[in-house]
Amino acid sequence: MKKKIALFLIGLLFLSGIFLGIEKAGEKSKHSTITTTTSTTSTTTQTNKQKKKNAVKSELPDVSVKDWNLLLVNAHNTVKDRQPNLTSLANGQQLDEKVYPYYVQLSEAARQAGYTLLAISGYRSVAYQQQLLNNDIQSYLNQGYSQEAAKKKALEYMTEPGTSEHHTGLAIDVLEQTWYEKGNALETSFGETKAGEWLAQNAATYGFIIRYPKGKEDITGIQYEPWHLRFVGKENALYMAKHQLVLEEYLALLKD
Ligand SMILES: [Zn+2]
Repeated sequence: MKKKIALFLIGLLFLSGIFLGIEKAGEKSKHSTITTTTSTTSTTTQTNKQKKKNAVKSELPDVSVKDWNLLLVNAHNTVKDRQPNLTSLANGQQLDEKVYPYYVQLSEAARQAGYTLLAISGYRSVAYQQQLLNNDIQSYLNQGYSQEAAKKKALEYMTEPGTSEHHTGLAIDVLEQTWYEKGNALETSFGETKAGEWLAQNAATYGFIIRYPKGKEDITGIQYEPWHLRFVGKENALYMAKHQLVLEEYLALLKD
């Protein structure tokens, strides 16, 4: 009896050995199939990427990275003594005089769509930016943050003096009057309002871009700001909107 059980167990081990072998071989072939498929897919993606890049480049407007309206200002490109000729809006906010007429057109189009744009902040001098930053840091210090944490927190939404687009007169923060009167300020939820959506969809027609869009924070270095408009001119703005490029990406494409 014991012998029979032993034989049975040996037989069982033998069979399971074969079974495992088949299984392993099956797995192996499955793996190699997957590997082949993956490499084919990545080749296809690369070709598509290249094709897409070429298509994108063929439609590029005939402009120069040195154009005044393409001035790049960010953490790595500070403003050096740019003193624009300014024009004041009705509420005292200022813009570069060359940008002003386009902002008026944008406001008028918004009004016709049922939204009253409110200019919150246009041109700011470097000194004024420093003061705003200091105030913001102080408010975080008052909330109990350490000096270092307060500065970090403040710089999530504010730029170091000299690195703000507001020094150029080419940028303006806008909200919608009714929304603002309900007690809202520069909050990301503005982007989800009807006015915020209208702005994102129509600003390019008047030469403006939403400079810090969602999902591009790693390139712009700035959190999503649905209210911050930057003038770049109509053809640049329309191209950037169509291809979902931020200014940094667009300039890189022009330089290519
Ligand atoms: Zn801004």
